[in-house]
Amino acid sequence: MLASTTAQGGTDEAPRGDPLRRWRWVVPSLAAILMLGAAAATWGYVEAQRIDGQVDQAMAERDNARRILQAAVDLESSSRGFLLSGKQDQLADYHAALQFFQRERNQSIASIDRGLNELRETSLVDALEVAIRTRARRIEHYASGGREAAVSGTQAGEGKRATDDIRRLVTVFVSDREAKIARWRAALGWRQTAVVILVLLGTLISIVALGVAHRIIRRRQRAAELARTASDRRGRELAALVEMSELLQSGVEASDVRAVVAHAAKRLLPGLSGWLFAFNNSRDRLDLAASWKGGDQPLGVAASEPPDHFAPSECWALKRGRPHHGDPSSADGGLGCVACAATGSGLCVPMAARGEVQGVLRIAFGANAPAPSAEQTALATALGDSVSLALANQALRERLRGQALRDALTGLHNRRFLEEVMPQIEAQLARDGQPVAVLMLDLDHFKSINDTHGHAVGDAVLHAVGALLIDQLRRSDVACRYGGEELAVLLPGSDIEQAAERADVLRQAIAGLSGSAARAPGSLPLPPITVSIGVAAAPQTALRLTDALKAADAALYEAKRSGRNKVTVATARNAVTPPQPKLGIVRSLSAE
Ligand code: GH3
Ligand code: MG
Ligand code: MG
Repeated sequence: MLASTTAQGGTDEAPRGDPLRRWRWVVPSLAAILMLGAAAATWGYVEAQRIDGQVDQAMAERDNARRILQAAVDLESSSRGFLLSGKQDQLADYHAALQFFQRERNQSIASIDRGLNELRETSLVDALEVAIRTRARRIEHYASGGREAAVSGTQAGEGKRATDDIRRLVTVFVSDREAKIARWRAALGWRQTAVVILVLLGTLISIVALGVAHRIIRRRQRAAELARTASDRRGRELAALVEMSELLQSGVEASDVRAVVAHAAKRLLPGLSGWLFAFNNSRDRLDLAASWKGGDQPLGVAASEPPDHFAPSECWALKRGRPHHGDPSSADGGLGCVACAATGSGLCVPMAARGEVQGVLRIAFGANAPAPSAEQTALATALGDSVSLALANQALRERLRGQALRDALTGLHNRRFLEEVMPQIEAQLARDGQPVAVLMLDLDHFKSINDTHGHAVGDAVLHAVGALLIDQLRRSDVACRYGGEELAVLLPGSDIEQAAERADVLRQAIAGLSGSAARAPGSLPLPPITVSIGVAAAPQTALRLTDALKAADAALYEAKRSGRNKVTVATARNAVTPPQPKLGIVRSLSAE
């Protein structure tokens, strides 16, 4: 039962199943998305690098082609300048261009040539060789004196045609590379955009994943914390219940039970006030047996006026046979329960043990309080169960003790009880100074009753005398069967005169039993019965009750000796001569 309980109010109860179940798919999904994103970003990056390299190479080739064209133009204009002016220094660019061509022939020029070849164009190398050869021949002619022919050749445009051819090839190549560069740059653009988007997406997902992970960890920590708190609390509750059970087992008096239940209730249901109502002996009423206040909580203060008692028919917990939450402020108005009306919202738990309801435990929650949680109901029920068992045990113990200290035939206490109770009464006597009288009674000629009418009739006489004493004596008086047909009665608060008068009343009443229908076997009329009574009192006859009892016994002996069916008063302790009872009584004392 405790395993299903939690903290007061029940709000921190652990949810059924794993509270993070719905988050389980999130982490693997985010991880998969992240991995896909990372793969895509890597691919995009590698692609971008590759395209970037291609663009760089195409740009370099384009620039090389332009330099080659420039060198071809320089070659042509420099040689022309020389042919027209005859100045050697005009050939500087010519030689530089030749060196350039020589240097680049196997690299950039060959590379451009391969590009042109792919474009199904004629060879740049060939065109360059034509141009170089043409120029070299002109310069040679010029040097060998054929100046006119060289100049006219130049004017005829041989060199220019070769240069135009180179220009055309370079232009074709450069256009191709420009187109490719533009295309690749476009491709590079969207790949870079994709990479940026993927990286941003990855970052976003990482942030979300971190947030989710943080949330999951926090919730797990909280769940663990709650579980630990609940477990600690259950441990404490269990310890309190165990301790309460032990205390209840050890407690022998009803007051012990009341003290223990109040103590345990404060620990198990802290801050809540409560009351214990127990059935009275005739079981027609529930009396307030114990109450406790719930600390500083205003609930306890508000719910502080329970009824002293109420009828079982007024209690819905008893009528339903299970815990009932009554709230006078609710729509049903508490259903007319007296305790509910007086103490506000509360939980009533019927306390049953050994097949018998012992009472009702009421825990108050105060006005307008929410209904008790399952945990509170379980704790109150556990409390009620333990208390009811203790009450039942205690009632059983009392019954057994009563049986051990009572005489079965007469219904009076036995001699052992008298010996147990005498020190207590003596202590009370010493404390209060109130007198205690002792009557010793012995049925006259009882043996002959047995002999004449049989043992069963003798028993019936003893039973009838016992019932008469129970009927006539006060609750505070103690009557017991002292042995055989001898009875002893203690009359706390009675002095010797009062005791003598009451003894005589009893003597007459017992005599009055003669001829009456026996309540015992056979319902035969009882035979004539008389009794002799010795009277003493403490402190008048003797200071100690035990001595007074002996004195009463002596007085009884005197009554027997002086004729029976009479009351004899013991001699006062300081009296020189026996006390003279009042005259009216003297005569009544001597019935014979
Ligand atoms: P006395 O007037 O001197 O007291 O005479 P008595 O016969 O009453 O006294 P005695 O002591 O001689 O006899 C007491 C008798 O009581 C003897 C015993 O058998 C009888 N008796 C004792 N206890 C019981 C009992 O429980 N039932 C019955 N039927 N008789 C009992
Ligand atoms: Mg007798
Ligand atoms: Mg006797």
